[in-house]
Amino acid sequence: MKINKTVVIGSGTMGSGIAAQLCNANIPVTLLDLKTEISQKAKDKIFNSRPPLLIDKSKIENIKVGNINDDFKVIKDADWIIEAVVEKIDIKHNIYEKIFKERKSNAIVSSNTSSIPIKVLSQNLSNNEKKDFCITHFFNPVRYMGLLEIVKNENNDLEKINFLKKFCEDRLGKGAIICNDTPGFLGNRVGVYAMQVAMTEAFKMKLSIEEADAVFGRPMGIPKTGVFGLYDLIGIDLMSDVLKSFIKELPKNDDFQIVAKEIPLIKKLIETGFTGRKGKGGFYKMNKIGEKRILEAINLDTGEYSPSKKIDIKADKVNLKKLINRDDKYGKYAWSVISKIIKYASSLVPQITDKFNDIDEAMRLGFNWSKGPFEMLDEIGVKNFFDKIDNYKNNKFLEDLYKTKDENFYGERQRYTDIETLGKIKKKAIKLDKHDSAEIYRFKDFNIVEFNTKANALNYDSMDCLKKATDKPLIIINESMQFSAGVNLNYVMDFAEKKDFNSVEKFIKYFQETCKHLKYSKHPVISAPSGLTLGGGFEVVVQSNFVVSHINIVMGLVETIVGLVPAGGGCKEMLWRWSQTNEGKKDPDFAPLKLFEIIGFAKTATSPVEAEPLMLLNKHDKKVMNRNNLLKESKILLEKNKNFTPPEECKFKLSGKQVRDKMYKSLEKLYKDKKILDHGLEVGKELAYVLSGGDTDLNKELNEDNLFSLELNAFMKLIQTEKTQERIKHTLATGKPLVN
Ligand code: NAD
Repeated sequence: MKINKTVVIGSGTMGSGIAAQLCNANIPVTLLDLKTEISQKAKDKIFNSRPPLLIDKSKIENIKVGNINDDFKVIKDADWIIEAVVEKIDIKHNIYEKIFKERKSNAIVSSNTSSIPIKVLSQNLSNNEKKDFCITHFFNPVRYMGLLEIVKNENNDLEKINFLKKFCEDRLGKGAIICNDTPGFLGNRVGVYAMQVAMTEAFKMKLSIEEADAVFGRPMGIPKTGVFGLYDLIGIDLMSDVLKSFIKELPKNDDFQIVAKEIPLIKKLIETGFTGRKGKGGFYKMNKIGEKRILEAINLDTGEYSPSKKIDIKADKVNLKKLINRDDKYGKYAWSVISKIIKYASSLVPQITDKFNDIDEAMRLGFNWSKGPFEMLDEIGVKNFFDKIDNYKNNKFLEDLYKTKDENFYGERQRYTDIETLGKIKKKAIKLDKHDSAEIYRFKDFNIVEFNTKANALNYDSMDCLKKATDKPLIIINESMQFSAGVNLNYVMDFAEKKDFNSVEKFIKYFQETCKHLKYSKHPVISAPSGLTLGGGFEVVVQSNFVVSHINIVMGLVETIVGLVPAGGGCKEMLWRWSQTNEGKKDPDFAPLKLFEIIGFAKTATSPVEAEPLMLLNKHDKKVMNRNNLLKESKILLEKNKNFTPPEECKFKLSGKQVRDKMYKSLEKLYKDKKILDHGLEVGKELAYVLSGGDTDLNKELNEDNLFSLELNAFMKLIQTEKTQERIKHTLATGKPLVN
């Protein structure tokens, strides 16, 4: 079996997302809709999407468009036909009738439905046709969400289902989990239940929406949108439709029914157009008073809005045991929500799936939770859980667990895939040392470092961990969404506010020392980034000996945005890279000028294809579609480099004032055109000083330490200015840049 050509029918949110991912995999796809104008518009939207659905815009012609009347003949050639039209059964039935008349024998036909069972979708098909029909349930946005549920029933040809799973893993990069034909499959059944529990308990326990979101968020290993924020993002009306479908499909005695009941406030919000972010607002809304935009939050009792309050429950790290045992309303709410989610998820075993592990992985991949319900139970501890829980009648999984009291019930992770993943290896590896900001694992003859702070922001402790781990070949990799958003600015600002600049300097020096050590230690160091790889995070990557990059990255040196310059070796290493190009070898000012633009404008790449022309990644760096393969590919590189010798130290010849004057000229123009303001000019000048080599000329040779010193000096000068501190504080508070 092969999949060379594909057709997607329905070019809405999901159809375009799926077509874009097929395009990313270099698989020709035809996108059909009622009219060609609709699918053409969808193609244009794919091209201009933000965050981008395409990894390489130049491949857009992999996508052809058409309409279901004039162009239906394309079905004849397709090996896989994916239906992603509106969730209306009659429309879907009509389309299947047409498809099965035209398709070549054996072509796979699948639906992207989120709620209609296969047995209903396929009720008009012959037995032979049913063999080739399944559900491929992608999540939105398709490029970025890891989960793909492949739903089968007893009529399916299992060999074909397994082939499709492997294809979607290898080529589309998805975490493909095979599920049975039950309502909501795995991800939505548990994920939507969890949202409903979090919401109904907030009403019952009289928590404000900000309080509920502050608990049902980072402290539980759940994205910070929380529950009410997520409701607004998905659409309150859409959620209401999803609930109606669950109420209809699930038995009356299913616990889902208890939490899915209509809430009067939600009905009112939908009726008045407050359907969430796409509507007039939702649980949260933006209010404009004069020029000021103020975020407001709804009061669950009165339905009135008032300015949203920032809630800090002082639980930055996920520590469930501590959280559920807190003697305040947050602890009580957390326990009530977590225990109900664990009870519900375990009540689905073995009827819905006999692999409880798949539920956890679906929650990780489809909802970006850092732990699924069973891992939460594992973390809380079996004894602790049963000491606290009130009842678990008719729950075979929990009854059995109570009998065995097996604290090690969990076993292996990620059983849905054959790939040797980080999640699997971590369970078998030995944890070395105790660090607050990262873990070191020893596996056979190499080490793994996994950062574990918020957005994997880096501090002294992260560097310490990296340095210690170089006693063996090292892979720097992680499971959380971001590789690293850069240096922890809160950490730096804490020192700055106390005017303790010695500590800042000590940290930056240690950062530099560690990065130099990564580059020149006698064992190879491999970085395997996915997600945000910015600032200091990128400096770790660029000074590793090898890189294996996921296709979903946001990479670059963005320090100037917060009024700083890269000071962990980012300027130095990028200067070296650019000076090794043909143009760089001919013209000594080429590399500094190029970088002045790239770093000065904080240019980022949103895929390896965009990273290469900026030289953030090299051609020879390995790029992988499936995140699960990052570790496997890194291990292959280690194997290939058994006889590794560290690189030779770089030497630089820079023209100093000569190139700096050119940089100043472009700065002055930007300033005159008001593209940058006073502080922008100052930051630009500091960057120019570093990239030009400082007080040097082409007759002098600079080494890496000279460049490290230039970076450090510029950083220390800038961090002590009021305006850089203003920029940092603003970005920490709002997530947005401040232009000053
Ligand atoms: P959408 O409303 O964005 O797009 C549906 C598209 O189908 C529209 O472009 C419409 O013109 C087209 N269409 C309607 N009738 C058609 C026909 N007879 N022939 C060809 N095209 C037709 O919907 P969506 O959100 O992309 O959802 C599509 C499917 O995916 C649904 O089954 C939905 O339940 C499922 N789903 C949606 C999401 C999500 O987050 N939106 C997630 C997973 C699954």
